[in-house]
Amino acid sequence: MEKRDYYEVLGVDKNASADEIKRAFRKLAKQYHPDVNKSADAEEKFKELQEAYAVLSDENRRKQYDQFGHAAFSGGGAGGAEGYDFSGFDFSDIFDNLFGSSFGFGSSFGSSRSNRTTRGSDRLIKLDFEEAVYGCKQEINLDVVENCSACDGKGGTGEETCENCHGSGTITTQQTTMFGSFLSKTTCPSCNGNGVTYKHTCSTCHGKGKIKKNKTISVTVPSGVDSGDRLRIAGKGNAGTNGGPNGDLYLEFLVEEHDFYVRNHDDIYLEIPLTIVEATLGCKKEIPTLDGNIRLTIPAGTNDGDKHRIKGRGINNEHERHKGDMYAVMKVLIPKKLTKEQKQLFEKLSKTDFKDSLIDKFDRFVKRNV
Ligand SMILES: [Zn+2]
Ligand SMILES: [Zn+2]
Repeated sequence: MEKRDYYEVLGVDKNASADEIKRAFRKLAKQYHPDVNKSADAEEKFKELQEAYAVLSDENRRKQYDQFGHAAFSGGGAGGAEGYDFSGFDFSDIFDNLFGSSFGFGSSFGSSRSNRTTRGSDRLIKLDFEEAVYGCKQEINLDVVENCSACDGKGGTGEETCENCHGSGTITTQQTTMFGSFLSKTTCPSCNGNGVTYKHTCSTCHGKGKIKKNKTISVTVPSGVDSGDRLRIAGKGNAGTNGGPNGDLYLEFLVEEHDFYVRNHDDIYLEIPLTIVEATLGCKKEIPTLDGNIRLTIPAGTNDGDKHRIKGRGINNEHERHKGDMYAVMKVLIPKKLTKEQKQLFEKLSKTDFKDSLIDKFDRFVKRNV
C-alpha cells in the first residue's frame, strides 16, 4: 500500500505549527481510537495517525521528512522498506485525559499503559421501589486496583538508578538511514520511564506496584434516587497513577416499578378504585401514602380520572432536596356482573330522570340529525 503523506494524514498544512499538529492529532486520535471506533479500518487508521504524529511532532524527524519524505525512515533503503518502528514512542502525555477522566483505555497500547489515567469505575445498582424512595444502605462488591502495600506501590525494594537511562527515564538512540543518522528519544524500557529500578522485584505485585483487590464497601444511597441517576462516591475507584489520589466510583441506579404506586420524578400517582355507588354518592376512603395511611374524602359525583392532590406526600428527595406531591387518581369501576337484585335496582334507577347538561345537549344533537 502506498504510504500517505503525513501532513495529509493529520489534515494539516505543511507549515502547521507544533501546536496545530498536536491539536489535529488529538482530534483524530479520539475519532479513530480502536476502543471507540469499531469500524474495520480504525486500527489501521490509528496506526497511521500515530506514525504521522511521531514524525511531525519531533523537530528533527520532521525536518528529515520534509527533506526526504518517507524514504528518510525506511531503514535499509529501497526494497525491504519496513518503515520506522514507533512502538517505543511515548504517547502518554498526549493521551492523558484525551477522553476525559471517565474514559478508560483499552489494550491498544503497550509499555506505557500503566502510566495512563485510570477509569472512574461505573456500577449499575438495582433498587426496589422502596429502597429508592426512602434511601438505603448498599453493600457493593468491587474489584479495585490498589497500590501494592508490600512495596508501597513502587514495584520492588532496593532502589537503584536505572543503568540503562542513567535515571533520565528516556533513552536516545541513533537511527541510521541511507540519508544519514538522526537521534530518537524513547521511554526507557528498563525502568518504564521512572529512572529507577529495584534490586528485588516485589513478589506480591510482580513489580507492577498495583494489585487488584476485591472489596466490599458500604454506601448510603440518599432517598429519592431514580433510574438513570448517578451518584459519585469520591475516592472509591481505582488507585491513582504514580501515587496520585484514587479515582471516583460512580453508581448508576435502576429502580424497579411498584405494583400500585406510579412514580413521576418526585410525585407519586395512585389509582383509587371506586364502585359506582361510592363515586356517585361520595365516601371516605382509607388510602396508603409513602408516610402511612390517610383518610381521603371522595366527594359525591366523582368522575373516573378525577385527581386529588395531596400536597407534600410524594417523595422526599434528599438527592435533589425537593419534596413531591401525591396524586390520588379515581378509577370508577363499572360492574360487569350484577345480581338479580342489583339489576332490578338499576332498572328502577333508569326510570328516573338524570339531569345532565351534556346528556341533554347530546340528545338534541341526535334529534337534529334525524
Ligand atoms: Zn531507565
Ligand atoms: Zn508490590
